[in-house]
Amino acid sequence: MTHHTIHPTVAVLTLEEKATLVSGASFWNTEDVERVGIRGALMTDGPHGVRLQRTSADNLGIFDSEPATGFPTACATASTWDPELLEAMGEALGRESRALGVDVLLGPGVNMKRSPLCGRNFEYFSEDPFLAGRMAAGLVRGIQSTGTGASVKHFAANNQEKDRFRVSANVDERTLREIYLPAFEHVVTETQPATVMCAYNRLNGVYASQHRWLLTEVLRDEWGFEGYVVSDWGAVVDPVAAVAAGLDLEMPSPGEASATRIVAAVNDGTLDVSLLDLAVSRILTVHDRLRETQAETTPDFDAHHALARRIAADSTVMLANDGDLLPLDAAAGGAIALVGEFAREPRFQGAGSSFINPTRLDRAVDTIAEATSREVVFAPGYRIDGTPDAKLVREAVAAAERAEAVVLFLGLPAKWESEGFDREHMHLPADQVALLEALAAVNPSIIVVLSNGGVVTLDGVAGRAPAILETWLSGQAGASAVADIVFGAAEPGGRLAETIPFRLEHNPAHLNWAGTGLEVNYGERVYIGYRWYDATDRDVAYPFGHGLGYTTFRYDDLAVTVQDPAVAEAIVEVSVTNVGERAGAEVVQAYVGDPESAVDRPVRELKGFAKVRLEPGETARVRIELDRRAFAYWGERGWTVDPGAFLVEVGASSRDIRASQRIVLDVVPVVASLRPDSSLREWLDHPVGGPVIRAAFEAMGPMGEAFTSEEMLAMMADTPISNLMKFGGNTDVEGAVAALLSQVEEASVTA
Ligand code: BGC
Repeated sequence: MTHHTIHPTVAVLTLEEKATLVSGASFWNTEDVERVGIRGALMTDGPHGVRLQRTSADNLGIFDSEPATGFPTACATASTWDPELLEAMGEALGRESRALGVDVLLGPGVNMKRSPLCGRNFEYFSEDPFLAGRMAAGLVRGIQSTGTGASVKHFAANNQEKDRFRVSANVDERTLREIYLPAFEHVVTETQPATVMCAYNRLNGVYASQHRWLLTEVLRDEWGFEGYVVSDWGAVVDPVAAVAAGLDLEMPSPGEASATRIVAAVNDGTLDVSLLDLAVSRILTVHDRLRETQAETTPDFDAHHALARRIAADSTVMLANDGDLLPLDAAAGGAIALVGEFAREPRFQGAGSSFINPTRLDRAVDTIAEATSREVVFAPGYRIDGTPDAKLVREAVAAAERAEAVVLFLGLPAKWESEGFDREHMHLPADQVALLEALAAVNPSIIVVLSNGGVVTLDGVAGRAPAILETWLSGQAGASAVADIVFGAAEPGGRLAETIPFRLEHNPAHLNWAGTGLEVNYGERVYIGYRWYDATDRDVAYPFGHGLGYTTFRYDDLAVTVQDPAVAEAIVEVSVTNVGERAGAEVVQAYVGDPESAVDRPVRELKGFAKVRLEPGETARVRIELDRRAFAYWGERGWTVDPGAFLVEVGASSRDIRASQRIVLDVVPVVASLRPDSSLREWLDHPVGGPVIRAAFEAMGPMGEAFTSEEMLAMMADTPISNLMKFGGNTDVEGAVAALLSQVEEASVTA
């Protein structure tokens, strides 16, 4: 719980001025109040580049913005598993923001990838909250190191575009706490972002913009958030209810409409003015703090382009590399057929509010040719809009026929995925897959390079192309990174931040997607992504955490140390050796499973990771710390660790576990309090209630004895004590249960 000291200027503001300050002045600016020297702030999108519009404003990516470096999108950067690299990217974003006078950059987006279909998955990190939180925190640290505020969005449970302004995400509290909130929680507690952006949707029936539990109880009282909550653009339905719930700033400008309603609500007593003061104060405090750390800066666009290129290489996931087809020799060998319109017209970013105007744009037709002395023959092969073109196919086949290897760019057309709508399927365009089939018939050495924001199924690709590089939407320097990887100047450093299933129908959210009648029930509960595929023992095309490099690693001597079994903490250490011939990076992943839990839990959950770069033959002792949360689930009494065995696994993916160790935690069990409807088993297991109920049975003589016999227990263990009493001929069941409960209470006090 944090205490907020009201900003001194609040005391000299009129009610009207205060009401004006809690909504925007324009599309991207907050209000000034010249009379008292308040200068508004400039906000702009968005997660992977600065999108500052000078003339016409829109949040759909329609009007042009100032040139800015287009970094890889979140679906790509998450695959780096490298928070420090994201910090460097954040710093570059922050510098570019500052140079343009931007105070708050609207990102990152940390919503979970509940379904592969969500149109904005390209802007989100992962299906795993631990990974998403770590990556986002790195980015925010970097952005904020420059005096630019970040805006962590969209809080919360905005996991689909369908009906995003109205749909109610119906999510039970355990699922929220374990899956949909932790990425926000981690960023807030670790980095104190300047702002959090509320989501458009409703959560369990209440608009996120008016959700007091979310915006005040959880975000501020529990997590200690010190910044302000800004609405998503146009998310506020009732400005008075929003302020009352803890929303501080409505964007974009609603004109005077909201201020008028807020003034009226304060005057008629429906809104406590202290809540309005709080909102104003938080905005002013954050803007003051930002300005204290803001300094003049001139961004180095060349350096940022080079950084974007490095991040793109580190984001690229090599899904397959049969027969070590990659890397190709840049200096020797026959012709290379470079096929695919995307090699000429790169798909490097997503559509919508994050759509930026890049400072420059690398194209594979140039970068591949420049990186090799081999002959490179380009053939477009298909049209991006999917119109079949037999002539293009024939030309591509002819190029492949006389080439030694084929580098084939495939991917999703921009029209297929965007902010604002969800995809309907996970396939690549059929004409592109057919092209691959035709090429494979004449040349088996095919390297497929994929560009897509949402994950695609790879039937027709896997097995046909020996090498597959998933580059996601890799930013303005993506094509240079591909050349680096293809010829081995860089290795593909990415690991999957989301599972690639064989079929859409295997996805856990499938039957509840995307809801009916403006309600979407998260029926799969905590079983998102690999948690589901593991629990249901389902084969997947490529598992969470998977990605190949140009070298291989051996894991030895796992040691999981528990200092004090009564404290749920452990240290994982494992030796990792680069046993290949090239330097390379390995992402060591630590998963925890709780086979002896009182509640159903996923088989394994990511609780730590470390990326290590090693020279050939080099060994590192990798250390990963597991804190209490790594072992806990959200129970009736909050974060709960059950005593007993846990399985700690380390590996190169969720399905490539290299070593595991069982540990036992002897923590004090969290026991639920007993109630009249607690079962016989709950009474017997309860540290205080157990002796009380046993004594009561004893006092009953043979009847009581019978109740606790093995046969009776098997039948009656789940029976509430009040129901059980009815079988004992008791005429005052209520009184008897109350008597037992008060004995428990007395014994608890003396204990
Ligand atoms: C998007 C936000 C974005 C805002 C401003 C909204 O439509 O959901 O992510 O930051 O517009 O462009």
